[in-house]
Parts: sequence; C-alpha cells; structure tokens
Amino acid sequence: MANGDIQDPIDYGSIVRNNLMKRPGYMPYCGEAHLVRLSFDGTQFVCTCGYRTEFTEDFIAGYKSRWHTPEVAQ
Ligand SMILES: [Zn+2]
Repeated sequence: MANGDIQDPIDYGSIVRNNLMKRPGYMPYCGEAHLVRLSFDGTQFVCTCGYRTEFTEDFIAGYKSRWHTPEVAQ
C-alpha cells in the first residue's frame, strides 16, 4: 500500500493486479523491457515493442468498471 491507494481488502491474485485495481493511474511495466510502462488499449496493456498482457476478460472488466476506462475506438 502507498499513499493514494484506494482501500480495498480484496486480493486480486498478484502484486501487479492489486496495483492495477488499487492504485490510481498505475500502469504495469513491459514484460520484455522492464523499464517501459505499458498503456491500456481498451482490452489489454500493450507496449510499443509488441508485448501485450494476457489478463482475463473478467479482470479487465473489473478494471474498467473501477476506473471508468472507456473503450478505445477501433
Ligand atoms: Zn516493451
């Protein structure tokens, strides 16, 4: 927990998942180049190198409803 994290006792299954659900504006690091932050494309977190997260649809749906992240127009 860090300053600004929201209070939520649920364990989402990993440190990254917990940060995504509890830390406003948090973006995970790229799985290939760990100094690069990913961006959210509406369905997964992606990197310019082509790396893409593989979170479950359930988790992404919860993430989007928590932060009211809009769908990205295709
Ligand atoms: Zn990358």
